[in-house]
Amino acid sequence: MNDRITLRRLDDMHCHFRAGSLLKEVLPFTAQYAGRGIAMPNTRPRAILTGKDVVWYQDEIRRALDEMPHRHSFEPLMTIEIRDNTTPQMIAEAYHAGAVAGKVYPLGVTTNSDEGLRNFESESIAETFRAMRDVGMLLLIHGELDRERTLVTKREEVFLPTLLMLAEKFPNMKIVLEHVSTRVAVESVRQLGQNVAATITAHHLCLTLNDVVGYGIQPHHGCMPMPKDFDDRDTLIVAATSGEPKFFLGSDTAPHPREKKECAKGACGVYTAPVLPQVLAEVFEKTGKLDRLEDFSSRFGAEFYGLPLNDGSISLIKSEWVVTEQIGGVVPFRAGAKLQWQLS
Ligand SMILES: [Zn+2]
Repeated sequence: MNDRITLRRLDDMHCHFRAGSLLKEVLPFTAQYAGRGIAMPNTRPRAILTGKDVVWYQDEIRRALDEMPHRHSFEPLMTIEIRDNTTPQMIAEAYHAGAVAGKVYPLGVTTNSDEGLRNFESESIAETFRAMRDVGMLLLIHGELDRERTLVTKREEVFLPTLLMLAEKFPNMKIVLEHVSTRVAVESVRQLGQNVAATITAHHLCLTLNDVVGYGIQPHHGCMPMPKDFDDRDTLIVAATSGEPKFFLGSDTAPHPREKKECAKGACGVYTAPVLPQVLAEVFEKTGKLDRLEDFSSRFGAEFYGLPLNDGSISLIKSEWVVTEQIGGVVPFRAGAKLQWQLS
């Protein structure tokens, strides 16, 4: 039996690094094992919408990296939020400032999506998407729609016709359906062209809706999209461990202070950064596919983004440990639980 694995440094293609003091708390975890991380733009109070915002946020992250006691070769990959009023000019400026992708949050479906996109079919947004395609920026999508009489568990499925429309209308734009959570969405991504891929989180590989609301309400498992049925989770595990290059790691690690989770109307998001490679190793080992983990965590994402593979590697050793209950005021995924793998 393997008791040690070595992986190329990870690419975490979906991270919420936040800003200010929380950024300094959470960034060291990802920087420890990842070579790159996609910095999601829905920060507050300042959202990342323009080239100037990109420069500001990249500086924030670099300063936080410089302040770390251990130097890591970590590079943040920058993004901007695409809203109804994002123009081709703003795309050009963001691209020149270093943004590699634009992120779309449909209105009202998740944390800080209060000014999300209302209309995917307007001519003005088509112009913006064409500008992204022309410079080679990826379109990252939170693929859920909140319609009247649509249950939270059906929002991803309801979004899929929009994904199909975008994939057909922009065959030369790379599109990532973020944190895919249902069988039907995995199948859609498989059937669409090579321009469409999906990220998968560690927590969606572990949780079902039962783990959120089935045994008392578990606020630290609450996230968007909600974890779903067993069959959906099994499909995600197969997709992640199958060696299909369309499915790669995007953890959606989303730290919220404990009091923002444990309250009425608790925030959505699971803080996986402190345990990410360890949890992934457990999932892949359970399915007998540990040898596929590196492709999922460190190769397919880079290839889809058109980036060289990371240099350097990390090692995990098989040795039981207990996850800390709280880190910097935030409760991490699997807090208090035993994990089988740890970073060496
Ligand atoms: Zn996210």
